[in-house]
This record gives sequence, C-alpha cells and structure tokens, in this order.
Amino acid sequence: MTETSRYDVVVIGAGVFGAWTAWHLARRKQKVLVLEAYGAAHNRASSGGETRIIRMSYAKDEIYTRWSQRSLAQWKDLSKLSGQQLFQPTGVLWMEGEDIGRLKDSQATLERCGIAHEVMDNAALSKRYPQVNFDGVTRGLLEPDSGVLMARRGVQTVIEEAKKRSVEFRIAQATTSKGKGELTSIATSNGGRIFAGQFVFACGPWLGKVFPALLGRRIFPTRQEVFFFGSPAGDTRFAPPALPTWLFNNDEVYGMPDIECRGLKLARDTHGERVDPDTQSRIASEEGAEWARNYVGRRFPALKNASITETRVCQYENTSNGDFLVDRHPEMPNVWLAGGGSGHGFKHGPALGEYLAEQILGEQKAEARFSLESKATEQQRAVY
Ligand SMILES: Cc1cc2nc3c(=O)[nH]c(=O)nc-3n(C[C@H](O)[C@H](O)[C@H](O)COP(=O)(O)OP(=O)(O)OC[C@H]3O[C@@H](n4cnc5c(N)ncnc54)[C@H](O)[C@@H]3O)c2cc1C
Repeated sequence: MTETSRYDVVVIGAGVFGAWTAWHLARRKQKVLVLEAYGAAHNRASSGGETRIIRMSYAKDEIYTRWSQRSLAQWKDLSKLSGQQLFQPTGVLWMEGEDIGRLKDSQATLERCGIAHEVMDNAALSKRYPQVNFDGVTRGLLEPDSGVLMARRGVQTVIEEAKKRSVEFRIAQATTSKGKGELTSIATSNGGRIFAGQFVFACGPWLGKVFPALLGRRIFPTRQEVFFFGSPAGDTRFAPPALPTWLFNNDEVYGMPDIECRGLKLARDTHGERVDPDTQSRIASEEGAEWARNYVGRRFPALKNASITETRVCQYENTSNGDFLVDRHPEMPNVWLAGGGSGHGFKHGPALGEYLAEQILGEQKAEARFSLESKATEQQRAVY
C-alpha cells in the first residue's frame, strides 16, 4: 500500500510531547500527521493514567520553572477552548527535613520569576494541615497556584483540538527509522508508507527500541508503581481544598489529594528497575503495596487502615541526568528525537511542543541542555 499525500511533518507518538508538538506545528500552518501505535495516552504510555503534578519549583533549574509557567498558561487556555477542566488548582506543597538546599534554591528562583509562594515552618504546617503528620519536616514551601493536570484526558483533548485544526491522526506503528541522509518516508505496521519533509519521533520509553544503536543506552525506562487509598466515609480532609498536592524532597515521595473520587495518590519518585514498556508487568508488587501502606499510615494517621482502592504501574523514560532530549538525529537531519521526560516531563508538554515546532521551522536557537550530545550512557540524576 503506498500513499500519494505528503506531509510537512509526521509526528510518531501521541503522548504529551507528540500531541503538543503536532498542535504547535498546526498553529504554524504545517500539514501534520500523528502516527500512534496504540492510542493517545494509552495505559502503557508514560502519559497514561489520570493525573500529573504541575509545579513551578525546580531549585536552581530556572529553565524548567519558566517552561512550567509557560505550559500552565497553555493548559489553562486548552481547558477554556475545549470546555474541559484539565487543571485542578490544588496548590503544591514542598517539604524538606534536613536542609538539602533545594527549597531555598527554589524560593530564590520563584522570587525571580514572580511566582506566588509561601514558606512555613513545622508549627505553621501542622496548624494549617492537621490531618498530616509532619514528623521529620522542618520547612515547607507552598505554591498556591500550582496543582494537578488531568493526564490522559489532557493529551486526548490536545489531539481532538489539533484534529479540528486539520492535523490527521492514525493508529499504526512506524516500523522503519533507519538510514543516512534525509529520510523521505517511513513504513507502517499495516503495510503503508508515509512521505514527509520532517519526522518527529516522540516515542517516550520506546525511543531506545526505535533507535537501539543511538538511544538504547541513553534512555533508561524504569518501573514506577502508583497507589490510591480510599478515605473513610464522609471524610473530606484528604480531598482539595483541605489537602494540597505534596512532595517530600528527602524521602523522594509525592502524593495528591483525592481528585475525581480516585482516592489519595502516593508514589515514590526514586527510580525503579529497568523495564521494557511492552512487556513489564502492570500489576503492582506486594513489596510496593506494603511500603505505601506504611508510608500513608505514618504521614496520614487517619488513613492508617485505609484500603488500597487502585494501583497503576507506569514507567519513567529517564535520560542520564533528567534533562529532556530534543534534538536532530545525528545522521538524518530531517529526523527529530523528542523524549527523556524523566518523571517530570508531563507538565512541560506545551512548552516542549512549542520549542520543537520552532526548532523544526528554524525559528529558535537550540538549548544545549536538550542536546543528544549532553546525554550520557550512565545515570546520574541532577534534575528533580
Ligand atoms: C508514574 C508516573 C508519574 C509521573 N508524574 C509526573 C508528574 O507528576 N508531573 C510531570 O510533569 N510528569 C510526570 N511524569 C512524567 C511524564 O508523565 C512523562 O515524562 C511524559 O508523559 C512522557 O511523555 P512522552 O510523550 O515522551 O511519552 P509517552 O506518553 O510514552 O508517549 C510515547 C508514545 O509513542 C508511541 N510510540 C512508540 N513507538 C512508536 C512507533 N514505533 N510507532 C507509533 N507510535 C509509537 C507510544 O505508543 C506512546 O503512545 C510521570 C510519569 C510516570 C510514569
């Protein structure tokens, strides 16, 4: 099967990065096709699931603070345009025990960027949030205007709105991506061939499988387990506005209040074992469940015996240090690589899509932190 239409850009992958890239290309009048193996933000994709945190604090990494700011505005615009509530302003509370410097660095960056925040000591935190046990917490930093994005629904909305702006969307797997020099076409799993001027591979944790020689050792997909706990009947202390979204720097643990009746969410931000997104088990481990029960019981005493009402197993797609990968393929100048969200990429979908669209159209200088060259083959996390 061959096709006669030729696109300006084919975007392979309809996770948050691919979807927003297509959106920004369409706004720049490009003829775009999105090719997706399973479905937008499906349940094996890194963008799948219900919710993701959008927060502004990134310690000294101001580039991500600015991208979060820029992205939140676009998520809100999309909510208005689509009539969907894609952002929930729960507030985001950062906690720190022993001073590891991140909270102070974030505070300085937020001040520079004009972002609202409030710093509290242990006594103030305990007074404001009596349902939380703040043992081991010395300080907290609240971002009152940050919160939660609806993940799968958000990505699917970007795709639906992009389709209204003439982006085409097709379910098929891209099967060829090898070569040297300009790529003219790609083959698909259903026997098709698609021609385009530029190709964006926004394949998330699959990037290392699509380009094994180039990225097999530069993208580290890790297993991440997520748990939801049910509140006691009639108890609203674990839902917004009573409880904000929170992150505890020293424990590398984060959680969310009960959003859309799913229960209190809890997960570790430490990297799990290396996995293959096609074959890893999606059943949470008993060890993980035991850890989550203990953690919840300690931090939220009223939930000591709460039951786990839902679990999810997803994967991060880490780069060596946590900086994103947005660059050209070194041997195919019209092929772009977009990924390496590294457990914090979701919120940045709008800014990343805009940046990549501008790169493709030669409208902006490249940022060295997103280059392929800066991606090592050994992990040393630096961005949180
Ligand atoms: C448990 C968990 C919690 C997280 N929490 C947060 C958070 O709170 N805040 C935050 O900002 N970020 C968070 N992240 C990170 C964020 O979700 C990811 O960085 C982001 O979703 C990555 O998006 P992506 O588009 O790169 O990848 P994906 O969403 O995985 O999309 C890639 C797509 O490419 C498709 N694809 C792959 N190969 C092919 C092919 N050959 N042909 C066609 N299609 C193909 C796949 O089917 C997939 O749909 C979290 C991630 C996880 C797993």
